[in-house]
Amino acid sequence: MSYTSPKTLAETVALIQRDENSVYIAGGTDLMVRRSLGLETTQHLIDLSGISELRGITLDGDTLSIGATTTLAELAANPTIQSDYSALAEAALSIASPSIRNSATVAGNLLCENRCIYYDQSDFWQTAAGGCLKCGAEVCIATGSAKHCYSVFISDLAPVLICLDAQIEVLDHSSATALISKPVEWLYTGDGLAPHSISKQDILTRIVLPRPASTLGHADNPNISFRKLRPRASVDFTNLTIAMRRTKDGITLAASGIGPAPAVLRNTTTDDASALAAALLKQSQMIDNVSYRRPYRKEMLIETIRSMMVDE
Ligand SMILES: Cc1cc2nc3c(=O)[nH]c(=O)nc-3n(C[C@H](O)[C@H](O)[C@H](O)COP(=O)(O)OP(=O)(O)OC[C@H]3O[C@@H](n4cnc5c(N)ncnc54)[C@H](O)[C@@H]3O)c2cc1C
Repeated sequence: MSYTSPKTLAETVALIQRDENSVYIAGGTDLMVRRSLGLETTQHLIDLSGISELRGITLDGDTLSIGATTTLAELAANPTIQSDYSALAEAALSIASPSIRNSATVAGNLLCENRCIYYDQSDFWQTAAGGCLKCGAEVCIATGSAKHCYSVFISDLAPVLICLDAQIEVLDHSSATALISKPVEWLYTGDGLAPHSISKQDILTRIVLPRPASTLGHADNPNISFRKLRPRASVDFTNLTIAMRRTKDGITLAASGIGPAPAVLRNTTTDDASALAAALLKQSQMIDNVSYRRPYRKEMLIETIRSMMVDE
């Protein structure tokens, strides 16, 4: 295995152009776990954590920029995030454990691999079970399907960032200079086999958030709330995460933990929790592949949305 630690983006692009069979590592909290299970086998690691251009949180006029390698601990402790984007701080603090949050980065969270109780297993387990579709076998263990993988999108930051109308910036490694700017949900394909729309060689450089209206002297500051369901209150991955934003234009809901990509409803005018849950489920292909069973998660989706409405 080889390991390189570039100091600039230009150096990184030169490295990846020379050897596209490399993989980026930031905090390593997702990648190294997958390596230890034999799910990630790329031999050349390019460490992004020493690139100062990718780090830090900065205010820039009417936007806030979060560098890709900002850690979850830094995000949650940042005073501007705490005061103006408190749901994002809450989401970051809900992730994993303090020691993992000290290493895990914001971009790594948005790009961490989808999960499934039949995929996140050792080689030994996979061999005994016959392997899953995402590991190259012919059928999905969870559904018996030979076509679709329903591994679950688990990022807790993504639903909140979607409700905040965040944009991600991506450096296309082949042209080296072209930066594209897209809404967060653009990152996700909905295909559990290949859940991300950027290539493994492109670099997510930063996340850009509009400043809340109130800090710019306008009224109608969106109120964003965050809920997460999982067996234990720390370390466990989500079984259902919902962020909700209410403005005069309606309700925006984004959810993870219910399908291969975040489910998003923008500016809907109904406040019927059952109808909103049904609309989210319509986009999400929920199956039995996390700790809690599907009927319970469906029921909790409705009840969580209902409780978020009442709390507002
Ligand atoms: C025990 C445990 C519990 C967890 N619980 C939760 C949870 O409750 N909620 C939740 O949301 N997450 C959870 N996570 C996932 C955690 O958030 C991610 O592991 C972490 O955010 C990944 O960040 P990282 O910097 O360590 O990424 P890495 O492991 O370094 O990388 C992850 C992936 O992203 C790619 N990558 C990283 N940075 C970039 C970049 N800038 N550009 C392009 N590609 C990049 C890497 O190539 C790799 O494929 C948990 C993880 C663990 C180990």
